[in-house]
Order: sequence, then C-alpha cells, then structure tokens
Amino acid sequence: MSSLQRNLPAIANQHFDVVIIGGGITGAGVARHAARLGLSVALFEANDFSAGTSSRSTKLIHGGLRYLAMGDFALVRESALERKNLQRMAPHLTQPLWMTIPARSRAEMLKIRAGVSTYEKLGAVAAADRHRNWNVAALSEEEPLLNSAEFPFACAYREYLTDDARLVMANLRSASEHGAQICNYVAVRELRQSTDSVAVVLSDELLDERFALTASVVVNATGPWVEQDFQSQPAIPRRHRLHLSKGVHIGVPRERLPVRNMVMLTAADDRPVFAIPRGAVTYIGTTDTTISGEPNHWPSVTAVDVEYLLEPMARYFRVDPLSTEDVVSSWAGLRALINQPGKAPREMSRKEEIWCDGRVVSIAGGKLTGFRKMAEQVLQEVGRLLGCAWQLDDPL
Ligand SMILES: Cc1cc2nc3c(=O)[nH]c(=O)nc-3n(C[C@H](O)[C@H](O)[C@H](O)COP(=O)(O)OP(=O)(O)OC[C@H]3O[C@@H](n4cnc5c(N)ncnc54)[C@H](O)[C@@H]3O)c2cc1C
Repeated sequence: MSSLQRNLPAIANQHFDVVIIGGGITGAGVARHAARLGLSVALFEANDFSAGTSSRSTKLIHGGLRYLAMGDFALVRESALERKNLQRMAPHLTQPLWMTIPARSRAEMLKIRAGVSTYEKLGAVAAADRHRNWNVAALSEEEPLLNSAEFPFACAYREYLTDDARLVMANLRSASEHGAQICNYVAVRELRQSTDSVAVVLSDELLDERFALTASVVVNATGPWVEQDFQSQPAIPRRHRLHLSKGVHIGVPRERLPVRNMVMLTAADDRPVFAIPRGAVTYIGTTDTTISGEPNHWPSVTAVDVEYLLEPMARYFRVDPLSTEDVVSSWAGLRALINQPGKAPREMSRKEEIWCDGRVVSIAGGKLTGFRKMAEQVLQEVGRLLGCAWQLDDPL
C-alpha cells in the first residue's frame, strides 16, 4: 500500500497532464480515475484530506429515495446503480443496513411502499435486498424503540453506511498506487493560463513556502470553495452558481437512543431527518440552512440547530426526553448546491455541474455516492482538452 508521502521538491517545476485542486471525494475520485488512465496527475489539498464537506456528511451511500419526490428519476437511478457499484468495489466501506420509514396509517404505508418499490425498480435492487413491511408485532422485534401507538407500520429498505473520510483515503491511495502525486497542506494560489498549459502557483502551508509547476489541464474540485478567486490570468469569472447550505449532525450516547436500524423521521418543517446507530453513538442529522459569505471549514453548530434535530425524537421514540446535555458530538458541513433561484435549499437539485474556463475544468454539486460517475464526466472534459478519448473498460 502506498504511503502518500509528500515529496514537494520532486514535484516543483514539473509538468503534469492533470493537476487537481481539492482532496475531498470529488478530487480524490478524479485523481484515481485519471491515474488509472495513465495520465500524469498531481492533487493538492490545502488542509488535511477530507477536511471539507467530505468528512461532514450523513455517511450514506444512498440511492436518493427523497429525490423521487422531487421528480428527479435520472438522479435516483444513477445514485441507486452507483450504490451497487460501490458495494462491489468497496464492501468494507458500504455496510448494508435497513432504513426504516415509520407510517401513521395503512394508507400512508401504501404510499411509502409505492415510492420504495419504484426506487427499487429504478436501482435494479436484488430480490434479497428488497424492502420489508413491518406491523406492530414485527416492530416490537425489529424496532422496539419506535412509538408504535403513533406509528403502527414501517417500511424498511436497504441503504448503505460508509465512512466518508476513509472513502476519500481509499481513492487517494489507489490514485497514488497508479502513480499520482498526492499532497495535503498545499494550497493552490494562482493559475496563469497560456494556449496549451496552465502555470500553477502553490503554497506549502506547513513550511510557508511557494513553488510552481505546470499542467495541461487543471481540475478545480474544491466543493464549496469552487468559486474562489485564484488570482487567475486571464481572470476566471466568478459566476455565483453556488448556493451554500449548512448541514449539522449531532451524536447522543447509543443507550439514550438505542435504535436498531437507521430511521427516517420528519422534522417540524417536514424535512427528513435521520437517526443512525453507529458504535457507541446514535447520530441525528441533518439541517439545511442557507449560509452567506465565504465558505468556512468549521461552520458553527447553534442551539437552534440542536433543538431542531432533537425535537422529532420524543414524537417518534419511546425515550426519556433528550436535551442539549445529552449531545456528545456534533459536526457541520456545507453543501455546494447549484443555485436555483426561487427554490429553498431543500428543494434544490443535488446534481453536479461541470464547466470549463479555458484549461480549467470546475465541478460542483453532486453527492458522495456519485463520485465515480462524476469523475468519469470530468475525465471526458479533460480528454476533450487533451485531444484524446478513452473508455475505462473496467469501471471498478
Ligand atoms: C450535511 C451534509 C450531509 C451529506 N450527506 C451525504 C450523504 O449521506 N451521502 C452522499 O452521497 N452525499 C452527502 N452529502 C454530499 C457530499 O458530502 C458532498 O457532495 C461531497 O462531500 C463534496 O465533496 P467535494 O470533494 O466536492 O468537496 P469537499 O469535500 O468540500 O472538498 C473540497 C476540498 O478542497 C479544498 N480546497 C479548497 N480550496 C483549496 C485550494 N486553494 N487549494 C487546495 N485545496 C483547496 C478544501 O480544503 C476541501 O478539502 C452531504 C453533504 C452535507 C453538507
């Protein structure tokens, strides 16, 4: 296994086919894919790997059932199929668990089942993994914590739990094994484009030293930072495509919320909130609130966020009331959503967008789940700029 050692003197002043900015899942997936195609690749992360959104997610490799309600069938299909691919590719990072959706009545249960069945068809879910229907008797075995007086039915369907930061590392290791140079604590500061290459100015954040190199193509995979000013020449226009939305999770001791499965609840404003058991903790998330100004690696977790996430627990579960004192951990991340004026963050599509400014390919939006497909699409653009086409026969 490769050691991912930084060797900046060996990289300085070199030329690479592709330089990738950002060591989250998007950049890591592109680096792996590009290196496996035989391109010379360097990836730079200003912070530690996964320091941005890619360690702040709900940690689900999911088919996006809720996008069905948004009518985004293509995204549901792609996510659900991708989920299967990832399970084949990295079974140690895709733990299958039941996601339970409680229902108040038989009619509500039928509606949920219809949605889940469509979802399973779109995602070609194997028979053994298809949903289960639980009544009060089954719930007393399968999810005894659920308040079955209020919710006498539940539909349980398969979702996969991952470790987002480890998924990033697995991709970076694979990229490194295929020859990519992978460096953390190196920030890209300037991009100067000429007709056939880009000069990249970097700063070593540990030694406070600057150095430079060149690339045929640069991929900007900086998530919430994708519209930052790189002091580019010619200038890359700031397009204000992004809408940043904060998502908070909190953890409570498992014994205070001992759910057996992942459970999908509805918050006071009708948004879905998940309760997910993991080791000694059950974590609850997430919020979805607009953030203005520059992106921050450490978005705040407020008392309002915590109250919002705790509120549904007493409605759904037979537990002693949970309060702020029960919260043992929290994390917050920024969704880089593609702006859709007039829509609330929860209504905006989670689909990625790719755009080019000369030899700089930028990608934003998307999901952890879709990283492999996103990398394929980025590599199509890179191929166009390099004047070559490729097919990666073995997608895994
Ligand atoms: C609350 C929340 C829950 C989510 N839950 C899920 C989920 O359960 N399942 C799912 O599939 N998706 C989920 N997502 C979406 C998913 O987490 C993101 O789509 C994904 O992590 C984005 O990855 P990224 O690599 O594009 O961005 P990031 O992970 O943010 O990576 C960008 C990186 O670029 C670096 N960077 C910035 N500027 C520079 C520079 N100048 N030089 C070098 N590096 C730089 C940053 O430090 C950062 O590490 C969730 C998102 C949020 C916010």
